[in-house]
Amino acid sequence: MQTPQPNPAPLVALGDADERVDLFSLTRDQLADHLDAWGVGARHANRVFRHLHALQVPLHEIPSLGRHAHTIAARSYLPRVTLKTSTRADDGTIKLLFALGDGGLVESVLLPMRLERYTLCVSTQVGCAMACSFCATGTLGLKRSLTAGEVVMQVHEARRFVEGLKAAPGDLVSAEEAAAAGARELSHLVFMGMGEPLHTYERTRDALRVLIDPHGRPFSTRKVTVSTVGLVPNMRRFSEDFAGRVQLALSLHAGTDATRERIIPTARRWRLAELRQALLDHPLPGNRALMIEYVVLPGVNDSDEELDGVAAFHKGLRALVNLIPFNPFPAAPFRSPTPEEVARVERGLKARGVPCSVRVTRGQERAGACGQLAISGF
Ligand code: SAH
Repeated sequence: MQTPQPNPAPLVALGDADERVDLFSLTRDQLADHLDAWGVGARHANRVFRHLHALQVPLHEIPSLGRHAHTIAARSYLPRVTLKTSTRADDGTIKLLFALGDGGLVESVLLPMRLERYTLCVSTQVGCAMACSFCATGTLGLKRSLTAGEVVMQVHEARRFVEGLKAAPGDLVSAEEAAAAGARELSHLVFMGMGEPLHTYERTRDALRVLIDPHGRPFSTRKVTVSTVGLVPNMRRFSEDFAGRVQLALSLHAGTDATRERIIPTARRWRLAELRQALLDHPLPGNRALMIEYVVLPGVNDSDEELDGVAAFHKGLRALVNLIPFNPFPAAPFRSPTPEEVARVERGLKARGVPCSVRVTRGQERAGACGQLAISGF
């Protein structure tokens, strides 16, 4: 596994006009610093930020910015994240394929929830370095992390797509959904697409800061979930930076270190005891709870010993376990559980006092389900 590296700070060397800045990677504070350094004035930051993110207006159309629009345009650029294709599965899940400026490809998945909203499953990397043995993305290796701006743009583009569906539902929504389309909003984000969101932590942090900023078009923090394989130092930074307001999900997937190590390479570095301590230290304001994800791999992590371990791990945590039936992909070294095998794990955990639910598999026939996102082209 690659050791997570801090990103270079997005600030440009001042006066270097060739070093243009990705405008969407900047938090509002960083934008203010840049506007100040460019002679535009930090006082314009809130307005520029709002026009870019909430109103999606091009720079030169921002009122009373005048010649400053040219200065900003000369020093910055917008990341290119272009929607290539959208594919709908029969259950209404829509897989979006995006091309990045350098040709890299990522997938995001729109999950319709009841009749009024969508959840977007966001990707943070092209491929992934974590190499978990049950995950298709892990077989690709890491090509690169998305910039914060690319993550933000991915969300903007997905929202634009959802708004386009309202205007012209076409064959991407069912007749029933088309009738309700006026009410459907993109309101929830789960960082559970391709990549490990805490690997290049600063990028995810900055993207989150932009996406929840009240001066932009903010997502409610309780509607944003970041899922991690368990990179403890960055989990701790995430807990601190967002004071526990953005939801945290941990991919646990085993009740013993031995089994976890067999399926998750990073488990050798961070043991269950350390993961558990990081979760105990994660603040939970209000009625928030942690999510613990558990992919059900029959014959691997569903024995009594594993479930005892999960119960011991869970003890003292305010956490819900979400069971994910393993979704197959070509050459996967595991098989999917039967519904009865999943129900047995669910009963086993409940009997041990662990609250849990089963994640409904979505978009599987279009390879849009958990752990099936993988594109070889780059
Ligand atoms: N890197 C993040 C996000 C991964 S995707 C993380 O590790 O949490 C979201 C969830 O899907 C994770 O819990 C992941 O372990 C799980 N997952 C991966 N491959 C899967 C598969 N083939 N079937 C079911 N769940 C899978």
